[in-house]
Amino acid sequence: MGLELIIFFILGLIFGSFINSLVYRLKNNLSLWERSYCPKCKQVLKYADLIPFLSFIFLGGKCRFCHKQISWQYPLVELITGILFALIFLKNGTLNFALFCDLFFVLVLIFIFVFDLKYYLILDKIIWPALIVGLIMNLLIGLNWLDLILGLGLGAGFFLLQYLVSNAKWVGLGDVKLGALIGIMLGWKLTLLTIVIAYLIGGLTAIILLIGKQKKFGDVLPMGTFLSLATIIVLLWGSVILSFYF
Ligand SMILES: [Zn+2]
Repeated sequence: MGLELIIFFILGLIFGSFINSLVYRLKNNLSLWERSYCPKCKQVLKYADLIPFLSFIFLGGKCRFCHKQISWQYPLVELITGILFALIFLKNGTLNFALFCDLFFVLVLIFIFVFDLKYYLILDKIIWPALIVGLIMNLLIGLNWLDLILGLGLGAGFFLLQYLVSNAKWVGLGDVKLGALIGIMLGWKLTLLTIVIAYLIGGLTAIILLIGKQKKFGDVLPMGTFLSLATIIVLLWGSVILSFYF
C-alpha cells in the first residue's frame, strides 16, 4: 500500500507538470511537441530543469538562465495533482477501471480550475472531448445511463437558466458546458451536491475578497474554478457527505 501510494503521488507530480505545460501551450497556441522554454527569457530548458517539483526546489524558484522568479503555479499544481492522485488511489483501494476514470476526471478538473482562474475561460477543446470520453467511461463502468443523462440535464440546465435570465452576465456558456460535464461525471444527486458546495466556496471567497478589498461588488469571479474544486471534493468524498445527510 505504501509503495503504491508513493508511485501514485509521483505519477501525479508528472501529470501536474503536464497540466502546467498544457495550460501554457493552449493559451499561447503552441504545439504540444515543442521543447519547453522559460516564459520570460524564452531559453529552451535543460532536461534537469523539467523534473516535476524537484527542479523548482533545486533552482531556488528561479530560471537557470535569466534568474527571474518561476511562478508558484508550477510547483503548486504539481504537488496538488500528486496529492490528489494519492487520495484517489486511497479511495479506490485497488487498481481498476474506476480508478483510472477518477484520475482522468481529476486531471480535466485541475486543468479547468487553473485555466479559468488565470484567464476566466473554459476551453471547448478540453470540455467537449472530456464530455464524450467521460460518458463512455462511466457507461463502461456500469453507471446508470439515465442517472448520467439526468445529471447532464441538471448541470447544464441550472447554468443555462442563469445564463438566459441574466443575459450572460452571471455565468458564461463555458459554465453551462462544465455543468453538463459534471453531470456526466457524477450523476444527478452528486451534481446537485457539487453545485451547493461550489456556491458555498464561491460565496466565501467573494466575502474574503470584498473584505480584503481585492474585488469590489459586481466584479466577476471564475465560476469554473469553484465548480471544478467542488467537483474534486465530491469525487473524493461525495458519497460520504451524502450518507452523512441521509
Ligand atoms: Zn528565464
